[in-house]
Amino acid sequence: MSKFTSTKKGLICPICDDNTGKCRIVDSITLCMNSPDGAIEISGYKYLHASKDGLWGVYAEDNGQTHSNDAKRVYKAQKVARDLITTHKHETSLNVIERDREYRKLIDQLPLTDRALSDLIRRGLNAEQIERMLFASVGQWHPLRHAMTTQLAGVIDKGNKLNVMADGYLVPIPNIDNLIIGAQYRVFEPIDGNKYPWLTSRTKNNPDGATPHLPNGELPMGVYRPKNLIKKGVVGIAEGYLKPSIATDKLGHIFFGMSSGNFAGCPEQFEQALKLIEVEQGIKPYLLLYIDAGAIQNHHVMDTYSRTYKLAVNLGYEVKVAWYGQFSKTKHQDIDELATIDDIQEIPWYQFLGLQHKALKDESVTISQRYLTDLDIPESAKLICLRSPKGTNKTGYIARYVDGQRGYKRFLVICHRSQLTQQLGHRLGLRTHYELENATGDIKAAIASEISLFGMVTTWDSLHKIN
Ligand SMILES: [Zn+2]
Repeated sequence: MSKFTSTKKGLICPICDDNTGKCRIVDSITLCMNSPDGAIEISGYKYLHASKDGLWGVYAEDNGQTHSNDAKRVYKAQKVARDLITTHKHETSLNVIERDREYRKLIDQLPLTDRALSDLIRRGLNAEQIERMLFASVGQWHPLRHAMTTQLAGVIDKGNKLNVMADGYLVPIPNIDNLIIGAQYRVFEPIDGNKYPWLTSRTKNNPDGATPHLPNGELPMGVYRPKNLIKKGVVGIAEGYLKPSIATDKLGHIFFGMSSGNFAGCPEQFEQALKLIEVEQGIKPYLLLYIDAGAIQNHHVMDTYSRTYKLAVNLGYEVKVAWYGQFSKTKHQDIDELATIDDIQEIPWYQFLGLQHKALKDESVTISQRYLTDLDIPESAKLICLRSPKGTNKTGYIARYVDGQRGYKRFLVICHRSQLTQQLGHRLGLRTHYELENATGDIKAAIASEISLFGMVTTWDSLHKIN
């Protein structure tokens, strides 16, 4: 089986012309992220179906027809029109002063429940911090006693309801001037693995609802100031918004926080905040990246850090890494959970990159817990032997792993009994060799393309039939 390649300069998606890595190509099959439901029709390509996770449209080359670019042109014109509407929507959204005023009005009418309070205290925040950071509880579809403007991201219906999917608490995001410019909410039970959904008014039924984007189109970046500023000339960088708000008082210096650590996605706020801090503190700050535990083994996260590094260096700032040996997600802690800060070293970026090699060496992990839940598989792993007793949820664990890697890796699951393949295929969301052999026509082609993209389940005695 051949591997699939992400689109890039010089390898554009034949369906939508993307060259930014969104779409993928393998042999005569294309996965197009801009057309998951087959909206783009291109002659020469046949839309087969959506990928199982719904992210991509799976297209196969169809040599019976001649190529025409008309559909592509229509799609591109539509995309330009859509982008213009989005830009206009951001530009006409509430400005930061209005946002701050409205978010404070909102928080004023929200309670703080014992459950939220105890979660915040468990994280190490004290009463003063909890009050200063304006945390507030929200419930599912939280009703508002005092109606608010629906221009505020999160407010829906007639201004009397919050678009909150599950119980949790608001994590307001302050900017450099301590204005609240947006909010996520921490849910007690993650929704599809997401613990921090954005507060947004945009829903399926309300596609034009206000989103958290600022008028310049960037998502909000948080700036966190400690109660007592101990260290000047340094700005900590951390992922998300709750983590840096905890870390700032712990370390005694300013922190920036950003959703998914994607600071490269908010270059204007990043640059402006750094310039203001320099004026305020009278010293040019350097940046200190607080790397998440285990991130060094995850190349997606490492790419994100690397883009932050490049942004900072291009703006003329020095970057260092806060390192305390946090190689593993399961064995080590993030900065907000760390018991003592005494062991933190500040190392140069290139020394940190060197540590990656150390992280990539073979690791034998022994864990003692009833169920396999959050096992950390190094990105670099070539062969993983998972050995655990019956009833420890091996299949459930593998199913989640397969789900998380779908589209990035292909799986060949070898089962010892043919009766089990169907059941296992169902649990893992993969096709089986049996299904392929017993299908015909278009369905067979669709199953074959799915297998070529995501892999399959088979038995050891069918292995010789696979090419
Ligand atoms: Zn595409």
